[in-house]
Amino acid sequence: MKNVLEFEKRLAQITIPADQRRDDESTYHKITLKELKMKCKAIDWVSYYRRAFGPIGREITENEQIVIYSPQYMSNLSDLIEEHLRDEQKKIVVANYLGWSVVQTMTSCLAKPFREASKILRKALMGSEGTESPWRYCVTDTNGVMGFALGAMFVKAVFHGDSKLMAQTMIEEVRDAFKSNLPNLKWMDEHTRQLAKEKADAITDMIGFPDFILDSTKLNQKYEGLILEENDYFTNNIEVNRFALRRNIQKIDKMANKSEWEMSPPTVNAYYTPTKNQIVFPAGILQAPFYDVNYPKSLNFGAMGVVMGHELSHAFDDQGREYDKSGNLHQWWKNSTIRKFEERMKCFVDQYTKYNVGSDHVNGKQTIGENVADNGGLTAAYNAYKSWLSKHPTELPLPGVNLTNLQLFFVGFSQVWCSTSTPEALKLQIMNDPHSPAQFRVIGTLSNSYEFAQQFKCSPNTRMNPEKKCVVW
Ligand SMILES: [Zn+2]
Repeated sequence: MKNVLEFEKRLAQITIPADQRRDDESTYHKITLKELKMKCKAIDWVSYYRRAFGPIGREITENEQIVIYSPQYMSNLSDLIEEHLRDEQKKIVVANYLGWSVVQTMTSCLAKPFREASKILRKALMGSEGTESPWRYCVTDTNGVMGFALGAMFVKAVFHGDSKLMAQTMIEEVRDAFKSNLPNLKWMDEHTRQLAKEKADAITDMIGFPDFILDSTKLNQKYEGLILEENDYFTNNIEVNRFALRRNIQKIDKMANKSEWEMSPPTVNAYYTPTKNQIVFPAGILQAPFYDVNYPKSLNFGAMGVVMGHELSHAFDDQGREYDKSGNLHQWWKNSTIRKFEERMKCFVDQYTKYNVGSDHVNGKQTIGENVADNGGLTAAYNAYKSWLSKHPTELPLPGVNLTNLQLFFVGFSQVWCSTSTPEALKLQIMNDPHSPAQFRVIGTLSNSYEFAQQFKCSPNTRMNPEKKCVVW
């Protein structure tokens, strides 16, 4: 196992860090399996893919096209494998590594000694054993493997009929606010600005859940071929993997399905897909503390409105902006505007890199996309709320809280990030996660906001109202 660990370390050493893999235009390499074989000859790619696609009988030849993100990694990987295969003693390490990789992914389905051992690792990495009550484990696990079947039960129980309409209206309000701000952005040229507006208009959305889950015939079709046994947890997990693989490989040669959901309905999260130019908000996030029909609009716009603005802004972050309104990756911005955009990116990178937890600094490059989305989202939602206020009778202030509506907007935003974390988990997050730690998602965005400083009357040149502010959208 020591040798396996050493092998894994070597893999880590040749892996290109995430902050150097953000530019999709430069990481996109479409090549044939024949060309891949030249870069990485240690692996017989044609027979590998023939085997992988065996279950659906799809023919694979050396002319098959494939997209790889790091040719450098592939050739270093090849060298590493060949170095081991040349040596009789080292040969077995590769086999053990592959065996271990399979065992590791299955530990949660294995007997107690395996699960106990993985707790020790988890404790070291995350600072907690992650022991949760059995009901919670079971619900989470079921959501992971059959999220749409579970989602049907979830939405029937808690997703109110008018929530979808409410979300739709709010998305339009935030989108309009985002577009209305485009003419104020002096760094953009007219042509790129017009295309950006068209891209914002072309963003499609999916809200709550896909309709098919409420139709039991269609829901059954979704899981057709998946056979689960009541008392065989391990085999069930193998079956789920086999089923998911088969479903995925069947997508080859087909047009992209733009109505497919990447998150299940109960998920408390949202996402933007650049290749589909689409934002998605599962039912799980369309509830308190993000949204409630009985909340003041200030809190709803501050929480849910900012989430919507965040996902929308992803269409225009360092990665999203490389895709056009149809989801195609190619340059559609003027060179001069790209340069000005990059200057603005540098401002955010420098700002967030200064934030630290102990000796660990936030990686400003790794988190740039999320930070841009947070900042753009806050501005769009704030402007959307102001526009809503101008069209509706005055919203009554919240009794017992000595805050104005516009101040409440910022409180609503900050409150969804109230959280706690072990030092170990925080360290791991700073190292791997594209999101900044929660506290900096609040401090970073609010200290860039002129409106925040104005509403809370922050003195100039203070921590939350620095003179230098980073603004892009
Ligand atoms: Zn995001």
